[in-house]
Amino acid sequence: MKYVLVSGGVISGIGKGIIASSSGLLLKTLGLKVTAVKIDPYLNIDAGTMGPKEHGECFVLKDGGESDLDLGNYERYLSLNLTKESNITTGKIYSHVLSEERKGTYLGKTVQVVPHITDAIQDSIERVAKVSADDSGEEPDVCIIELGGTVGDIESMPFVEALTQFRHRAGKGNFVNIHVSYVPLIHGEEKSKPTQHSIRGALQAGLIPDLIACRCERPLAKETILKIARSCHREVEQVLTVRDMQTVYQVPLLLEQQGLVTQLTSALQLDKLAISSALV
Ligand code: ADP
Repeated sequence: MKYVLVSGGVISGIGKGIIASSSGLLLKTLGLKVTAVKIDPYLNIDAGTMGPKEHGECFVLKDGGESDLDLGNYERYLSLNLTKESNITTGKIYSHVLSEERKGTYLGKTVQVVPHITDAIQDSIERVAKVSADDSGEEPDVCIIELGGTVGDIESMPFVEALTQFRHRAGKGNFVNIHVSYVPLIHGEEKSKPTQHSIRGALQAGLIPDLIACRCERPLAKETILKIARSCHREVEQVLTVRDMQTVYQVPLLLEQQGLVTQLTSALQLDKLAISSALV
């Protein structure tokens, strides 16, 4: 199983969901079966009890699960049918761990965020990733994981720790992190500093941003991309720019033109996956 984690920094609402969906769509074009998980680091069990003015409309899944709108994006982009399991919230994880504690599952142990909450998060991701979400009925090859909020928020810390551990659980060549950042224009000048801080913060928290997707109003100058690559110790090819588009359905092509498929194929060793499935 291959995993693509889409995390974000600087500010929320910069298009993590669209980049997650677009990455899934590009992987689908390679013939891979894709599923998706959205992590929402809030204590609500689901989005059903949140006011639409504060959170936006919730998206209702086929099993009646009330979730974040991003799940709707995944379904439309990837032709999937997701269930309430595809939306992991802090509320769901704590509720599960606390009920296990009452049942005596951890008898004799001190129940803690690490390892009990972080293990429950990893188990949840792994469980959902194996469930078919398309018409094939077969186990997916790739699971897209979108971490809501921004890295550095108190709320997302257990998830960041769990995902840091999950890279090792998934194994070498099975996990890639796309970190979405924002490059603001101040008096016409492209500012890379927020991205530099965001990548440093992600690294400090244990995440390793393999690819950096920069949301920006307009195409970034070559020098800005070079500066971000150099200061974040990445190759120029690992820095992608996602400018404002007329419609979000143009984003997959924009990413493909910048070599996202090549980057994912290399990071996730997808060529080996194709060889092994051809041999089976
Ligand atoms: P996040 O997941 O980071 O909260 P979303 O993916 O939900 O962000 O996107 C936030 C808003 O920005 C949505 O209304 C989405 O349609 C819009 N958006 C995202 N990417 C782009 C883009 N490249 N061009 C124009 N609008 C975009």
